Amino acid sequence: MKNHLSDRINSMSTSATLAMAAKARELKNEGKDIIGLSLGEPDFNIPDFIKEAAKEAIDQNYSSYSPVDGYADLKQAIANKFKRDNGLTYGLNQIVVSTGAKQSLANIAMVMLNDGDEVILPAPYWVSYSDIVKLAQGVPVEVPTSIDTDFKMTPEQLEKAITPKTKMMWFSSPCNPSGSVYSKEELEGLAEVLKKHPNIFIVSDEIYEHINFRGGHVSIANIEGMYDRTITVNGVSKAFAMTGWRIGYIGGPEWVARACNKFQGQITSGANAIAQRATIAALNAPISSIQFMIDEFHKRRDLVLELLGEIKGFNLNVPEGAFYVFPDISSFFGKTINGTLINNASDFALYLLEKANVATVTGEAFGNDNCIRISYAASEKELREAMARIKAVL
Ligand code: PMP
Ligand code: GLU
Repeated sequence: MKNHLSDRINSMSTSATLAMAAKARELKNEGKDIIGLSLGEPDFNIPDFIKEAAKEAIDQNYSSYSPVDGYADLKQAIANKFKRDNGLTYGLNQIVVSTGAKQSLANIAMVMLNDGDEVILPAPYWVSYSDIVKLAQGVPVEVPTSIDTDFKMTPEQLEKAITPKTKMMWFSSPCNPSGSVYSKEELEGLAEVLKKHPNIFIVSDEIYEHINFRGGHVSIANIEGMYDRTITVNGVSKAFAMTGWRIGYIGGPEWVARACNKFQGQITSGANAIAQRATIAALNAPISSIQFMIDEFHKRRDLVLELLGEIKGFNLNVPEGAFYVFPDISSFFGKTINGTLINNASDFALYLLEKANVATVTGEAFGNDNCIRISYAASEKELREAMARIKAVL
């Protein structure tokens, strides 16, 4: 049959994280004993006080359309959170609540990019950045980093990637997929370069800010000269284990917020009302209420590093945040293991899925084809079993 779909969707790739999770689910349903380490999703239950707030919201009949950019008291809670955790002052007219940080990112791309505008993406980058940018007719410009610089972009690399067409730079810290955390000094180094190019805007994706084992998360909007050109993206999926509740938000220049509000008003309207009310409870709570999850991720990170460290051929950085390890497995390329030739990271991830029944994600999806991503948002028992299986098949 003739393909009647738009060029836009035909040229878009399927989200590799979601595709791998779907494949793992399918194999599980067929009765295979799959351990899913592909999806970045906390395996904890949502804290009870957040559930209670949602139940109350239902009883209080929060059932109508909300303001497109979010309830005013939620935006106030977000403003307070930005002040408390990030030292950032955003007025309510600078904040937009959306259906997940994914929508926040899509809003930004759609309101900021024109045909051919370049967006610098230090690679590895989160899987959806590049397709979201392309959807908005932008051009992703990948800046490859490696394990040697802890997968962080240097100021020299940034400078070299800038052209007259550069409009934005998008990055996450803590980083999905590498777990790397930019220090204040490293962000200052990038800011020094950006100061020379006042027309470049920054998307700072801070959705993992609390899952940070070195402490001291730094927002680039807080570095001198960067506030007016940064859009800070965050959400409740990771820190509060609220992935399915779909709440993300931005703080940024008022003109950007106004444009996102206008765009969202034609696409989805306000985010789910009940989830917005629950988010107020989440954001108003002290960080100590979620410390148990952060401590648990820290323990699991150490466990996974220890177990993977025992497998010859895995080259590992020490991720300081998020809940992923991103080992360089290129030493296996060109080798035949138990009859299977491994040519690249996708072959490797497929081999682990088929032979060890462990689902991971190829680094290719994140702009680095020497690595695979392993999510350790799984129980200690599953992680031990998964690492033992990987070791056995290699
Ligand atoms: N940014 C990063 C870096 C992520 O890992 C995720 C995870 N899904 C998102 C954005 C989107 O989060 P959500 O849409 O669930 O808020
Ligand atoms: N952010 C998570 C991940 O990277 C969730 C999946 C997704 O939204 O793509 O696995």
